[in-house]
Formats: sequence, structure tokens, C-alpha cells
Amino acid sequence: CRFLCCAGTPCLSAGGGAVQQALKQAVAARNFEASVEVVGAGCMGPCSRGPLVRVIAENGEETLYERMTPEKAARLVEAHAAPGSTTLPEEWRIAEDSPFFSKQTKIVLSGSGRVDPERLESYVGEGGYSALAHALREMTPEEVCEEVVRSGLRGRGGAGYPTGVKWNLMRKAPGERKFVVANGDEGDPGAYMDRTLMESDPHRVLEGMALAAYAVGAEQGYVYVRGEYPLAAQRMERAIRAAERRGLLGHRIFESRFNFRIDIRIGAGAFVCGEETALMASIMGRRGQPVPRPPYPAQRGLWGAPTLINNVETFGNIPPIIQRGGTWYAGYGTEKSRGTKVFALAGKVSWTGLIEVPLGITLREIVFDIGGGIPGGRAFKAAQTGGPSGGCIPAAHLDTPMDYENLQALGSIMGSGGLIIMDDTSCMPDVAKFFMEFCMDESCGKCTPCRSGTVQMVRLLDRITGGRAVPEDLERLEDLCMLLKETSLCGLGQTAPNPVLSTLRHFREEYEAHIRERR
Ligand code: SF4
Repeated sequence: CRFLCCAGTPCLSAGGGAVQQALKQAVAARNFEASVEVVGAGCMGPCSRGPLVRVIAENGEETLYERMTPEKAARLVEAHAAPGSTTLPEEWRIAEDSPFFSKQTKIVLSGSGRVDPERLESYVGEGGYSALAHALREMTPEEVCEEVVRSGLRGRGGAGYPTGVKWNLMRKAPGERKFVVANGDEGDPGAYMDRTLMESDPHRVLEGMALAAYAVGAEQGYVYVRGEYPLAAQRMERAIRAAERRGLLGHRIFESRFNFRIDIRIGAGAFVCGEETALMASIMGRRGQPVPRPPYPAQRGLWGAPTLINNVETFGNIPPIIQRGGTWYAGYGTEKSRGTKVFALAGKVSWTGLIEVPLGITLREIVFDIGGGIPGGRAFKAAQTGGPSGGCIPAAHLDTPMDYENLQALGSIMGSGGLIIMDDTSCMPDVAKFFMEFCMDESCGKCTPCRSGTVQMVRLLDRITGGRAVPEDLERLEDLCMLLKETSLCGLGQTAPNPVLSTLRHFREEYEAHIRERR
């Protein structure tokens, strides 16, 4: 049998490394090496229940164990390697037919928790790099773009721009040199979708980038990894070198005429570097500050050359789209929001962790089926989507299908996939203040509306939540929201007011109650 030990950051920080070590020692102590394999794997989903270990028996039967410790290792090995020798307590297991798993559809995360991110063979064994081989041998770049158009895939970084349309624009952009960039500068509080994908299934991201490069005619790519993600950067780097050694990246890939090299660039912790013009400045060794668009990166990007920038999760969707066809992918989701989306489910919900669901699923299904509801008998109050650029969805909209258009209509956004659940103990003006403080800290300071406006908004929110505000402060707050939205240079400042605006829209009475407190 095989023991797959989650080697993602959440499980490792809960002691997963020691569990894996103890399992190996237990196998060696009983001379089970010939029949038992202990390997690392990526994220398995229910992160708060780690360290997680999945055991795959010879007959293919799988059992998932939660909250493993080194002390439990010997019994676990005994129970599986010598069946009948000992019985394990039922509470060690996680039922994989529970709604947390059964309501999910895994496309991007299909290899996560199954492939060993440190071994190229593990990814290849699951069909990895076959989409790239197929594309290079049997498809023209135009056909690859068309397949992505057919899938209806939209950028998973937040803006939701149609990926195939962007690729076609890039393909047609004139230029001797072109670049492909994977944006892994995920910085929203509570969000860790891209980190997980890079840590769990790095070759999937590389294969998606290589397919993009072939489609648009690029020979150089960069993976821009957030500085706070050392494990993700390390695994991506190792994956690149392993793929180069096997001829899957680099010169004459699959003995074709296609060359594509990828390098890693590591950010220095600035949230604004997720914005594409700031990201490109950072890659080129300049200070990570945005510049006005147009020109867009597809017209004039890195070193003046056309540059395709997609989010890590977007690239992760590409190999299955090429392998199984755009029409297959478009079969998931809603008419305008096709496919699946990865969310980091966090906050006041029983099951927290990383989930992948078809777009169009309702918030109620995510919170009460997948998430198991609100703990402690409390009531659901709101869900925050899209991080500091997003907004709060109140209980009245729990049955709204989650897609790009519906979330926007509610005053929020899909964003990159952070999903924070709040119960009835949360103060919504406090939540808005938290996100505004985040934007104030992360403002790069280049333009005045954002640099000074976020400071003024935090002061006003501080007065409101501290019971020191006057009714006119609410009007001032709304005026500042509009000012920032309309005059800030980049997306950070333009969207910073969103949490304030959405909480004012859905929970205005809480702001007013704070102001009344003063009297
Ligand atoms: Fe910098 Fe904010 Fe202006 Fe963007 S909006 S350029 S982050 S100061």
C-alpha cells in the first residue's frame, strides 16, 4: 500500500514532516519496505484537520486520516500493512463521501494530494505533459487558442477576462520576442489557492505555461512567486530544473522546433506587485509600482515586448482543457462563467480549507454543505469574497449562484478566491476597517487619492467603530469611496473602497448604530 502524506504548508506547519518521518521509521522497523511506500503529496483539502495522510491499499481502496501525530504512525502502518493486526479508532478517519468532498469537482486540483510535487515521474504517471506533447505534435498555435476560447475559461486572478481572447490578442501582437508570466503574487488576506497549486502540483502550472507559450509564440516565461511563499518557490524551481533535464522545457521540447525556458522571480512582499504593470516592473528589477494602462502588457510588456500575464490557477486549467477539449470544460459552470473555481474557505465555518467547485454553486451549498455550517450554534452573517478588493454577501443572498456576474451585482467580486465566512458576532464596520487598514499599509504611495485617501478612510472608520463619529462622517466616508474609485491610478486604490461600500449597502444600520452610540 501507499501512504501519501500531505506536504503542503498547512499540514507541514501542523507537524506533517514529523508524521512522514515517523511513518517511514515504522515501515523500516517492521521490514515492510517491499510492500509499503511512504511519499509526500500536495494539499488534500481540509487543511484545518491536518496533518493529513491518505492510504491507498493494493486494491485501490482509499482511507483519509486527519490530525495524525508521530505517535499514531506505528499503529497506522500496522493496521494497513498487516491487516487484522490492529483496529484504528473511527475518529481518526475522514469520510471521503462527506459533503466536503462529494460536492466538489476537481479539475485544477485533480492532482493535488495525489502527485508527489517533488517528483516529475509522479506527475507524468498521472498523464502529465501529455497535453503539451499532443499540442506540439498535432495542433497549431491557432488551434490551441481556439480550444481555450471554446472552454470559456476566464482569468482566475480576479478580473475574469476571457483567457482565450487574451491569448488570441497576444498571438496576433507583432513582436520578435514575447513573454509569458504566471502571476503567483497572491496577497489577499485568507487566500492561498495559488500557493497550494504551486506547492502541490508545480508541473501542472509549468505545462499550462508551456502550452500558452506555444499558442502565443513566446520563448521565455517567468513565474512570479510571492516572497512569503518559500516552499512554493522552491518546488517550482525544482520542477523547472527536472522538466529541463527531461526535455520537457527548454530547447526543442518533445523534439519539436518549440523552445521555451522558464525562470522564477521572487517578490519582496508588496501586495501591489500582483497588479500586472507593477509585477512587470519588479521582474525587470525596478521598483514595483504601477503605471497607467494602455499600453496593456499584450501590447507593450516586459522590456517593451508583448507579454501574456495569467494567474497561476488559470494556467493550471490549461492542460485538462487541451487534453479533454474546451467543450468538455465548458460543460461545467454557468453560461457566462464556465468551469470550476478554487476557493480558500476560511473563517467561522466547521470545515475550512481549499475547495474546488463548479461555478454557479450557491453560497449556501458552500457554507452549509461543503463547509458543514457555522460552528457553536451561531448564525451565518456574511461571506467576504475577493479580499480587500471585494465585498460582503449577506444571508439574504445565500442562494445566489456564485459566478462573476452575480457577485458583481451584489457589490462584491469573485476575486482570486478568498472566501471568509462570518457569524453573527462580527461587526461589519470593523471588517471594513480591517480591509481598509490593509490597503492603507499596502498602498505604494504613487498617487495621492490612494496614498492619502486610504489614511483618511481608516481614520473615519476608526471614529465610527470607536463611537466617536458624527452623522456627517458617513457622508464623508461615501465621498471618499467615490473619490478613490474614480481617481486612483491602479486597481488597488480603485477597488479599496469596495468592502466599505458593500458593508454600507448591506449593513448600513450597523454604521448608524455606532454613530448613535455617541449620543
Ligand atoms: Fe500606488 Fe495606490 Fe496609486 Fe495604485 S492606486 S499606484 S497602489 S498609490
